[in-house]
Amino acid sequence: MLTSLPPLSLYVHIPWCIKKCPYCDFNSHQIKDVKEAKDGKDAKTNVIDIHPSNQANEANQGFDEKRYLEALRLDLQSTLPKVWGRRIHSIFIGGGTPSLLSSAGLDQLLSDIRALLPVNADAEITMEANPGTFEIEKFKSYAQSGINRISLGIQSFNDEKLKALGRIHDSAQAKAAIHAAMELFDQVNLDLMYALPNQTLDEAIQDLEQALAFKTQHLSLYHLTLEPNTLFAKYPPAIPDDDSAFEMLDALMDKLNTAGYERYEISAYAKNSNRCQHNMNYWKFGDYIGIGAGAHGKISAHNQIARQTNERHPDTYMQKIFNQGHALIEERILDKDDLPFEYMLNTLRLIDGVPTHEFKERTGLEISAINGPIQQALKKGLLDEDPSTLKASDLGIQYLNDLQMLFLK
Ligand code: SF4
Repeated sequence: MLTSLPPLSLYVHIPWCIKKCPYCDFNSHQIKDVKEAKDGKDAKTNVIDIHPSNQANEANQGFDEKRYLEALRLDLQSTLPKVWGRRIHSIFIGGGTPSLLSSAGLDQLLSDIRALLPVNADAEITMEANPGTFEIEKFKSYAQSGINRISLGIQSFNDEKLKALGRIHDSAQAKAAIHAAMELFDQVNLDLMYALPNQTLDEAIQDLEQALAFKTQHLSLYHLTLEPNTLFAKYPPAIPDDDSAFEMLDALMDKLNTAGYERYEISAYAKNSNRCQHNMNYWKFGDYIGIGAGAHGKISAHNQIARQTNERHPDTYMQKIFNQGHALIEERILDKDDLPFEYMLNTLRLIDGVPTHEFKERTGLEISAINGPIQQALKKGLLDEDPSTLKASDLGIQYLNDLQMLFLK
């Protein structure tokens, strides 16, 4: 039984990309054509002529912005009865490539959200953007519509590496996008990857140094992994081995630390405490509504915590929304035996951990429910000894997976 409900966020998924990157296992689909909802009224067809490299992920009907925005509105409407009276603390528009949205389309989306739900005046509103889709006028308009945080998928500043990653942008486009983003938005995050195909330690450091020169408020640093069902899994490139990748991460973390970035989550680094509020809510086991193809939600009530999953394929998602008013393919009430693992899976990613009392506030369970695994973790040196926090030790961060698994029933 929860005595109070956690903060509520909103995630919006835009599932299309101009081209599918060979390492990507997100729910993103290569588009064949885009129909923009100009001014929300006059639909103009803008055909992007590309040849799909990954047929399995190709969306059949392309990106019809007007139709998808309508589906998102209906999707959100269908969730409202589960969140009556609750306010939205943050919004994250992710993908895919949300920066494929036209100015009018993004404005329409935010207007629809505000018309349906009370959004805090100071809510963090993030949009993910691909530097290859950067247009200054469009980004200006995004800022005017209310986007106050932009997350740029830079990945590398090395043109050869960007090509190997199948990215649609080059280093010059990345830099131009960052310069403009710093002018337009309160907060800018850069996504970077390391352990790239044939990458040396020096090249990884050069990438980070170029990113640091922009002094953005936030950086996210990800290890390139070869995920199943991707082109890279089928045709693996030569990537640095685990020891070399570990050495890279060590060197990169040193640089980030010296530049004043605090590592507050496994892959997230913030300057002057500019943490991503939306992601913090995920990691603290907060609630979130997920709308769009393949989006996930987690919504608590006083007597239960439920997880929802939407239909993944954009075409089927829209068909379901228009035919039956929702596109849920799964709605699962979390069993009380699953809650400790679900909670620890998220919170242990935070470098500072969480106050111990929050375990009961967010799961409704007594802390004694995880006394066994806590003792095991302490014995192995994976958990911090301070009883007032649930926090991975330095060793626990290194072996996070092993630590999290101790809480699996
Ligand atoms: S741009 Fe991002 S979401 Fe789209 S295919 Fe590449 S990695 Fe995936």
